[in-house]
Amino acid sequence: MLVLVINAGSSSVKYRLLDMQDEEPLSWGLVEKIGEPMGQVFHQGRTSNGVHQFTEKLPIRNHRQAMERVVNLLTTKEGGVIDGLERIDAIGHRVVHGGERFRHPVPIDADVVEGIREHIPLAPLHNPGHLAGIETALELFPGVPQVAVFDTAFHQTIPPAAYFYAVPHRLYQDLGVRRYGFHGISHAFVTRQASHLLNIPLEKVNLITLHLGNGASITAVKGGCSVDTSMGLTPLEGVIMGTRSGSLDPAVVGYLHRQAGMDVEEIMNLLTRESGLLGICGHNDLRDIHRRRLQGDERAQLALDMLVYSYRKYVGAYMAVLGRTDALVFTGGIGENDAVVRELVCRNLENMGVCLDPTENLQWEGRPKCISRSDSRVRVLVIPTNEELEIARQTLQVLSAPDSCGACAQAL
Ligand code: ADP
Repeated sequence: MLVLVINAGSSSVKYRLLDMQDEEPLSWGLVEKIGEPMGQVFHQGRTSNGVHQFTEKLPIRNHRQAMERVVNLLTTKEGGVIDGLERIDAIGHRVVHGGERFRHPVPIDADVVEGIREHIPLAPLHNPGHLAGIETALELFPGVPQVAVFDTAFHQTIPPAAYFYAVPHRLYQDLGVRRYGFHGISHAFVTRQASHLLNIPLEKVNLITLHLGNGASITAVKGGCSVDTSMGLTPLEGVIMGTRSGSLDPAVVGYLHRQAGMDVEEIMNLLTRESGLLGICGHNDLRDIHRRRLQGDERAQLALDMLVYSYRKYVGAYMAVLGRTDALVFTGGIGENDAVVRELVCRNLENMGVCLDPTENLQWEGRPKCISRSDSRVRVLVIPTNEELEIARQTLQVLSAPDSCGACAQAL
């Protein structure tokens, strides 16, 4: 079975063709800078002759042209991996926002396309790109079943006490103001992997999953289901991120408006693109921050201290939410690669049952692994996320048994 996974953004299309026999990618790549004067294509294909790489620069007017190039690269004689589009059995599309309507992945039809369109106000930066990708794929792959997999779906099990904001109820009724949560595809993937690694059935496993990358969110998972998550109505809430502030006093917005004369767009831009690690110390990549702090840069040290502190507050809070925590699960660019951050997050939590093994923490080599001591009541795991594989798995699952696909990882 071959599943093509498509993640279409506002100016890029990422793709991965997976052979679901061994769940390995046959091909993957990225078309970026769509609509700009010069676009960029990066493609890799795995054939019997080894891995073939291809890059090119050319203007790419729109998503249709981007997808046509992808189709061409997948099937071309030089480096293509399939002899025709009919080899593709299904297509899975990543969609960031499905609101309350899409609680699980769904086969795409005209009604679903309209549903994704209706959620554009909640995800104006993401859903339009997804729609462009979906509409083009429906034209280019007629007859191939296509599925929308939503980042918000995993969090639809969060109970009302955790998803409502303390604002007038009409804001929820009229405008859908509530916590939705994001990165659900990744949190669902590592939840299932952790259950396997811990040998605890999915419906019994309690976890705190830390998806820490440039964008970051932390989720409390009870019995395989999300019961709270740090991101909210938008991906701005929660922990400190690369360029996003995370949670702050909402009155900051009014204060900036009144005192600095900034309008809403300017303030949102400031909080989304100029804040977080970048705002604190001028760098948003932790590798640069480590380099600078080791050279004595105090702001870089402050940025790291604040980042870790914001993670630890959620870990403590979610331990209270869960009652019993089986494991902390680190994933994402920072969670997978930064042993210093993992060590600092787990430091002095022995009383809460977390005992990191410093040697194991340093020796992580890319595979799912336990990095806590054998006597640690709460295990600590590092699990590389694989959102494309999760999308492909959910795609096949929903096509083979549409009714079995609940929002929880446990139902998949
Ligand atoms: P995104 O949210 O864009 O998907 P990623 O999950 O790819 O982000 O994470 C990217 C971030 O991970 C980088 O900005 C950097 O801070 C961090 N990172 C990546 N590699 C390393 C590394 N080897 N050591 C420390 N941090 C790393």
